[in-house]
Amino acid sequence: MQKLIDGVAKFKSEVVPEHQALFDKLATGQSPDVLFITCADSRIDPAMITQTLPGELFVCRNAGNVVPPHGQSIEGTTASIEFATAVLGVKHIVVCGHTDCGAIKGAMAPQNLDAIPRVKDWVDHARAAVKAAEATLGEGNVDLLTATERNVVLQMSHLNSHPAVAARLAAGDIDVHGWVYHIGSGDVTAYDSASDSFKSVTQ
Ligand code: ZN
Repeated sequence: MQKLIDGVAKFKSEVVPEHQALFDKLATGQSPDVLFITCADSRIDPAMITQTLPGELFVCRNAGNVVPPHGQSIEGTTASIEFATAVLGVKHIVVCGHTDCGAIKGAMAPQNLDAIPRVKDWVDHARAAVKAAEATLGEGNVDLLTATERNVVLQMSHLNSHPAVAARLAAGDIDVHGWVYHIGSGDVTAYDSASDSFKSVTQ
């Protein structure tokens, strides 16, 4: 914990003064262009990956970068999506999965999650992606990357069920993007709906 406290001290004494104008501006409001929905995995740093500054990404994280279909249950992801789209007016939503994702491993083998029932229930949101991939490729033939990619596409589709997003989509003033971050290489692939596949985002 001391490492974190030392970090805060350094942040306040060195980093904030270096970017004082930015932090002064941010002190009274935010107007991010992007809602960035990604996994809670400690290896993902959205700002580092995209080289963005504080105030540029409205970040929403949970295990498996899940977008629960809109319904009666109240949970943080749905509230964050509504706030970002209806109040902040973000122009883009990025659903960003990643390689070696434990949540997707869980969705592929839910029988291993009996000791953690809440996690099992949560990753069930990704289960349809695994089942759909199995239907196409055959049971036992779905690799982790394919399941991860199909989960991103599934969660993108769930965004349509959120009224605040649906309204913005109907008005044509918001874009939804599906990404997979490849840990190790730093590559990010993006979903291309025309080919129904993922391609490097930098190409
Ligand atoms: Zn993950």
